[in-house]
Amino acid sequence: MGKIESLDQNTVNMIAAGEVIERPASVVKELVENSIDAGADRISIVVEDGGRKSIIITDNGFGMDRDDLAAAFEPHSTSKLKNASDLRHISTLGFRGEALASIASVAQVKAVSRTKDSQQGYCLEIDCGRRAPVKPCSADFGTSIEIRNLFYKMPVRRKFLKTANTEMNHITEQFIRTALSYRHLNLTLIHNKRELHHLSADDGFYKRASELFSNQIAENLLEIQSDEKRLSICAYSGRPEISRANNKLQYIFLNGRFIRDKFISHAIKEAYRGHLEPNRFPVIFLFITMPIEDFDVNVHPTKIEVRFFNANLVHSQVLGVIREKLLSTNLDTPVKVPAPSQIPKGSGTAAERSREITEAINEFFKKHKPAHAQNRFDFRTKHMGKPVRAEEVASFEGRDSIHVPDAERETLLNKRYIQIHDSFIVAQTDDGLIIVDQHALHERILYERLRSRINTSRLESQKLLIPESFEVSEVHSRLFEDNAELMEKLGIEIVPFGPKTYAVQAFPSILSRVKPVDFLQDMVDLLQQAESKADPKQLLEEVLDLAACKAAIKAGQKLTDREIEQLLADKEHVERASRCPHGRPTVIKFTLSELEKQFKRT
Ligand code: ADP
Ligand code: MG
Repeated sequence: MGKIESLDQNTVNMIAAGEVIERPASVVKELVENSIDAGADRISIVVEDGGRKSIIITDNGFGMDRDDLAAAFEPHSTSKLKNASDLRHISTLGFRGEALASIASVAQVKAVSRTKDSQQGYCLEIDCGRRAPVKPCSADFGTSIEIRNLFYKMPVRRKFLKTANTEMNHITEQFIRTALSYRHLNLTLIHNKRELHHLSADDGFYKRASELFSNQIAENLLEIQSDEKRLSICAYSGRPEISRANNKLQYIFLNGRFIRDKFISHAIKEAYRGHLEPNRFPVIFLFITMPIEDFDVNVHPTKIEVRFFNANLVHSQVLGVIREKLLSTNLDTPVKVPAPSQIPKGSGTAAERSREITEAINEFFKKHKPAHAQNRFDFRTKHMGKPVRAEEVASFEGRDSIHVPDAERETLLNKRYIQIHDSFIVAQTDDGLIIVDQHALHERILYERLRSRINTSRLESQKLLIPESFEVSEVHSRLFEDNAELMEKLGIEIVPFGPKTYAVQAFPSILSRVKPVDFLQDMVDLLQQAESKADPKQLLEEVLDLAACKAAIKAGQKLTDREIEQLLADKEHVERASRCPHGRPTVIKFTLSELEKQFKRT
C-alpha cells in the first residue's frame, strides 16, 4: 500500500495558520484588514492578556448574512476575488480567503454579524475547527469577532508566545500602522479594560503622530508631496535631530498597506546621506500610491513584501523627493538650552526668569568651557615637586578616573604628544610613535569600566536636582516596565509623570557627560530591537556599549593636555585597549625601524 495520503482539512488549515498567524498581533492584523475591506469607519480592538486570552474586533462595516457567515470560515473562501485574472487588480487588503479559516483552526472563535438591511443578526461558534451551526441572534449592524485562547490546543506554539507586554507591543504596532494609514477611521485600542488609544476620524496626520509617538516627533517632520510618473508620494520626513538608533520609526505604506522594502529603505538612507551619522536612522512616514497593475502583492503570505515592476523608478523617485526637500530646508539645529537640571527654578516674573536663564547659561558655559590650554612646560613647572591629584588631572571625566601613580605620570609627561584635527593624538613612545583615535579609545576605556562595575554590583547613581521629563509611546513605556531590573542595575530611576510622560530622577554618575533623556531614548530603541532576542546578557552588553559610546569624548573635540595625558594613562590600565567595543582599532603603532625603513635609512 502506498504511503501518501491527503491531509484532512483541519490539518491543512492548521498548516496555513502557521504561515499567517504567528502571534496575537497577526490575528489583529487580519481581522482589522477584513473590517477595512468591509467599508467600516469605526473599529474597536479589545484585548486581554496581550491577546493570549482574548481579542475582540468590532466594526460597523457591511456585515455578513447567514450564508456568508457560514462560508467565511471555510478555507479559500473569499468575496474579494472571483478568478485568477482578478489577482492582477487587487484593491482590497485581503484576497487569499485564508485568514478566518486559519484562525478558527487554532483558537475558539465567536463571530456575530448583521447586514444593514437585515433585522436579524447571526452568530457562529468554532472551537479549533469544530463548528456549531449558525444561529440567529440580536446584533448591531457590522461584525464582531472574538478570538479566545489562541493556540490552546498547540502547546508548542503556545509556548512560543511571549509575555503579555511583549505581545501587546506587537499589537500596538499593528494598531499604529493602521492608524497612520487609515486616518478616516475612528479607532480604539483597549487592553485589560484600559483604553490605550482612542483616535477620532479625520483628526489628521500630525495629531495622530503626536498621539501615537510624541509631540517632539510630530513637530519635527517635513512634509513632502510629489505626483510624477504614475507615482504619488506623500511623506513626513523627520528632521535629522530626531533621528533614532534603529529603523523602527520608518513606516512605508503602499496604497495604504504597510510594507517592508529593501529598495525603498535604501533610497531613504541615501537621501539622508551626509545629514546623519551612518549609524542613525531617520524618522519617516512614507505613503506611496500607484496603479495596482504596477506591483504584485501576492509574493508573501502576510503581504508585507511586494514586488514592484519598476523598482528602479520607485527608488529614484523616493530618493529624489526626500533629498530635494532636505537640501531646500534650513536644517540648522537650534542652539540647545542647558538641560532643566542646570537651570534654577524661578518663580518670579518673566523678566526675572529670563535673567535667571541667561545667568544659568553663562554659568553652564563657564563650567563646561575647556580648561585654559596650558603648554606642557607650564604644566610641569606648576606641579613640580607636588603630587598631582588624579581627580585634578582627570577633569573631563569627573570623579571617575583611575588614579595614576606619580612615577607613571612622570614617564607619561616625558612622552611627547600632540592632538591633531581635534580627533587623533599622536604620541611618541619608547620605540616609535602611536596614533590614537580619541573617541574609540575612550569608548573602550569606559566600556571596560562599566562592565567591571556592573559585574560586581549596580552602577552608582546620582539624583538629578530637577527631574528631567520626557514623552514616551505606549510601546516604550511597556519596554521600560519590562526591563525594570536592567534599569535598576544601571542605576537609572524613572517614574511616571503624567500621561505618556516619565521623569528621570537618578542617573549613573559614570555617565555624567551624557544627557539622560537622550540616552534613554536610544536605550529604548535598543530594547525594542532586542525584544525578540531576549538574551539578557547580550542586551546588557549592548546597553553598556551604547552608554560608552555616548559618554565618550567625541571626534572633533578639543582636549586639554591633562585630558590627553589621562587618556594615554588609562590606556595602559584597560584590557583590550587596542580595539573599541565594535572591534575597530583604537591605536595605530609605528616603530622606529618601520619609519627608518620607509625613509630608506636602512
Ligand atoms: P479574505 O479577507 O482574504 O477574503 P478572510 O478569511 O479574511 O479572507 O475572510 C473571508 C471572507 O469573510 C471575506 O472575503 C469577507 O467576505 C468575509 N468577512 C470577513 N471579515 C468580515 C467583516 N469584518 N465584515 C464583513 N465581511 C467579512
Ligand atoms: Mg482577510
